[in-house]
Amino acid sequence: MSRLLLLATGGTIAGCADDSATLNDYTAGVLGGDALLAAVPQLQDLATISFEQIANVDSADLSFAHWRALVGRIRDALAEDLELSGVVITHGTNTLEETAWLLQLMLDDPRPVVLVGAMRPATALSADGPLNLLQGVQVALSPAARGHGVLVVMDGQIHGAQGVTKLATQGVGAFASPGSGPLGWVDDLGVHLLMASGSRQVPFAELALPELWPQVPILYGCVEPHPLLLNACLRAGITGLVFTGTGAGQLSAGECRVLEGWAGKRPLMLRANRCGSGPVHACSEDERLGLLPAGSLNPQKARVLLLLALIAGLDRGGLAELVSARP
Ligand code: ASP
Repeated sequence: MSRLLLLATGGTIAGCADDSATLNDYTAGVLGGDALLAAVPQLQDLATISFEQIANVDSADLSFAHWRALVGRIRDALAEDLELSGVVITHGTNTLEETAWLLQLMLDDPRPVVLVGAMRPATALSADGPLNLLQGVQVALSPAARGHGVLVVMDGQIHGAQGVTKLATQGVGAFASPGSGPLGWVDDLGVHLLMASGSRQVPFAELALPELWPQVPILYGCVEPHPLLLNACLRAGITGLVFTGTGAGQLSAGECRVLEGWAGKRPLMLRANRCGSGPVHACSEDERLGLLPAGSLNPQKARVLLLLALIAGLDRGGLAELVSARP
């Protein structure tokens, strides 16, 4: 039988409420990975699944230490057991896309790594976690999933780590890949996914993660943004900063003035956008202000890329190469 590793991190999929009709007021990260597996007896016919508990938290409370543990464990598991078919991770949906993207940038192995979560706690009527877990396992076991990089399986859809995002606060269909759409889907007839074409770039496959990470804030664009936050970031000596610009990543004139007037060392800075889809391209002011466009990455994924770039010691030129290599 095929072997899979399940790494459990918590989230609503492991969440419990007092009442089965309660969908919002519950505690995330209560059940262990063993209970999640036990809730889906059909898994026993599909694979031998061992599980490890990396964390059991609401995904808003995941830390860099958890990310470090997750990356290390997956790298070791794939290197030590060449017969392992793949890895499935249960995760809170709120930051699932950040973890998926981090792993996509760091894991260089064709075997599937699949993240699943749930929008309803495990105690809910029509909880979506058990089916998402079953379908995540089906995808992880599918030869068609090899080489696609890190995948997210929610509500029968299979998404790629770069495009996927959580777009709604409620409802089981809360995930989408704006612009590109899902890579495929999974149902009781099987996994519908085209074979991966070509090899993918894994820019941080060799990067070792430190205990202490750089701090990279995200600033949100709006009418008359208060200069206080940007000034505070610069004065605090942060080394990386992501702007969630308006439209195609536009900064206000006030923010540009703050950057122009800053005499200290500039952080590495990416311009993403708050629209939810579409790219941010380079513009003529980028060079003067020390900015770089984040391409199609949303702000939270731009931040993950910037964190890893800073850990790797990249300068602005290195970061520019990295972002221009992303579609
Ligand atoms: N609060 C949850 C989390 O851990 C939300 C979820 O999992 O759906 O992100």
